[in-house]
Amino acid sequence: MNILIFGPNGSGKGTQGAMIQKMYNIVHVESGVLFRDNIRGGTDLGKQAKAYIDKGELVPDEITIPMILDRINKDDCDNGWLLDGFPRNPEQAKALENALFENNMIIDFILEIILDRDVAKNRIMGRRLCVNDNNHPNNIFIDAIMPEKKGDVYVCRVCGGELTVREDDQDENAINKRHAIYFDEENGTRAAVEYFKELARKGRGKVYQVDGSLPVNEVRDHIKSLLHNHRFYNIQSKRGR
Ligand code: AMP
Repeated sequence: MNILIFGPNGSGKGTQGAMIQKMYNIVHVESGVLFRDNIRGGTDLGKQAKAYIDKGELVPDEITIPMILDRINKDDCDNGWLLDGFPRNPEQAKALENALFENNMIIDFILEIILDRDVAKNRIMGRRLCVNDNNHPNNIFIDAIMPEKKGDVYVCRVCGGELTVREDDQDENAINKRHAIYFDEENGTRAAVEYFKELARKGRGKVYQVDGSLPVNEVRDHIKSLLHNHRFYNIQSKRGR
């Protein structure tokens, strides 16, 4: 199962992605995490990407596209992948489509989480990262995933681990830039989503939308039912042939 997930930063993509990853036993490929791992590891790619990331700008396609294509072609992705944070513009969308075609892979499912820009901004600023596992969701502004308090300090609600913040999550300027890229209907991520919607209108693939303003559990249930029905639909449509 190969899935693309879209949504503005702060829409709960990471949280829902972690759930989908477990459900299908697929690899959660997050472009932002790959970059941050490279920065932490001091690699050349990390050094090149850091300046862009700190400013909330996109890392150039020449660096980003090969990094992602390389990742989804690794053996651990044989069972499928959930791609999160890529593609972020129409060029990346086309590059992905071409690469999938060449490698005989398909996208089974495209999910778009819809959320108002200001709500998303608040959520980003409340986000906390668990040092033990990136897929442990914690946010001091969302009741359902509120971290635990140990004395005066917040700790991970899943494992009790230490929590950190991402530098670019506390910088309002950087958040505004990231959202400007996402909501750009001509050259940004919304344009990439539109690219896939256009393919879907021609009968290739399907883009499902979910309301990201609902509580985390409701968004999760909606996604689960979409995924379930989609699989069912696929089986039926194959039988019908
Ligand atoms: P994220 O964790 O998805 O918010 O990504 C953090 C940062 O990594 C972004 O603000 C960009 O600088 C960079 N980045 C992540 N994904 C991409 C992408 N698909 N294309 C270019 N830059 C990206």
